Amino acid sequence: SLPDDCPPDVEQLGRSTWTLLHSMTANYPERPSLTQQMETKQFISLFGKMYPCWVCADDFRSWMKDGNEPRVSNRDEFGKWMCEAHNAVNVKLGKKEFDCNKWEERWRTGWKDGRCG
Ligand code: FAD
Repeated sequence: SLPDDCPPDVEQLGRSTWTLLHSMTANYPERPSLTQQMETKQFISLFGKMYPCWVCADDFRSWMKDGNEPRVSNRDEFGKWMCEAHNAVNVKLGKKEFDCNKWEERWRTGWKDGRCG
């Protein structure tokens, strides 16, 4: 991969962006207000228009249209939805699917074996 002070390629951009997106779900409320739910949907919609990898953004928007509207009613729903969005990309790229029952251990609590401190 490229040195750290170079413009990001699609892979580096992707890794950083998934870190942001999953971290947003990890910090999403267990009981979001209707305003928070609405703003979250707006964010995802704008993200889908502005993500600076245009094929990625186009496919992400098609996936959402295709019966995968954002689920933002609580943290676990939003976390699982984001995991499914990421898995759709994993499948497209021939990568292994992630077990979405583990999204919270990966992105919020750390693993049960304590290796994350
Ligand atoms: P990443 O896929 O970046 O994952 C980072 C870490 O997240 C993994 O190490 C794992 O611990 C964890 N993880 C993996 N899967 C999940 C999951 N389902 N749920 C929760 N955690 C998980 N690249 C392209 O080449 N073409 C595209 O069309 C494309 N579309 C993209 C669309 C979006 C919205 C985003 C954010 C990225 C897209 N990417 C695309 C980038 C691609 O998804 C990867 O980020 C990139 O290929 C680097 O992959 P990676 O193997 O380093 O791990």
